[in-house]
Amino acid sequence: MTEVPVRILIIEDEPQMQKFLRTCLVAEGYRVVEATKGQEGLDLARTHNPDLVLLDLGLPDMDGTEVTKSLREWSTKPIIIISARGQEDDKIRALDVGADDYLTKPFGTGELMARMRVALRRTARAGQETPDPVMTVGELVMDLDKRQVLVSGVEVHLTPNEYKLLAVLMKNAGKVLRTGSSSRRSGAPRTRPRPSTCASTWCSSATSSRRTRRARAIS
Ligand code: CA
Repeated sequence: MTEVPVRILIIEDEPQMQKFLRTCLVAEGYRVVEATKGQEGLDLARTHNPDLVLLDLGLPDMDGTEVTKSLREWSTKPIIIISARGQEDDKIRALDVGADDYLTKPFGTGELMARMRVALRRTARAGQETPDPVMTVGELVMDLDKRQVLVSGVEVHLTPNEYKLLAVLMKNAGKVLRTGSSSRRSGAPRTRPRPSTCASTWCSSATSSRRTRRARAIS
């Protein structure tokens, strides 16, 4: 284990399975955050920024594939599906929408831990290859780890959809984005981004009122 505990988010509604996972992970030195519903899991993912997500597919309020899609709109952290569904179609669907791995219940502790280590190693390697999670465009600074947006050093509070849209624009600064991209799927306002000016438009408007900012994004 590293000095800073690795944070695992468990999204699982079955109490016995939740207890089993919690016991195993805590014994291995992981820090555990738990949710029993999909939306609760998405909220905890935003506030706790876990290093890995263990996700059940059959949740009370939404399907795990929908949770995966939502997470993938802003997070690249590994998602391992843990499900009783063993059909190939279920696995293909989950992997296609962004899950990294798929474990069919019941599974052994050893296999779960091994697959988690593989996923975490892959993320660590990718992290070494990718630049700092802090993106800067002009006076606009976005820290993906802290989920913090600064304009000229002053923190700006955005709605979840505004945050997602801004992240997409900043990651693609200098590129032309087509209408109907992930911003539409996230429920963000319909936009027609312009090359290289999208993020800077946000930068200049972020200090204005929220109403003004939305109006500019829609125009
Ligand atoms: Ca379930």
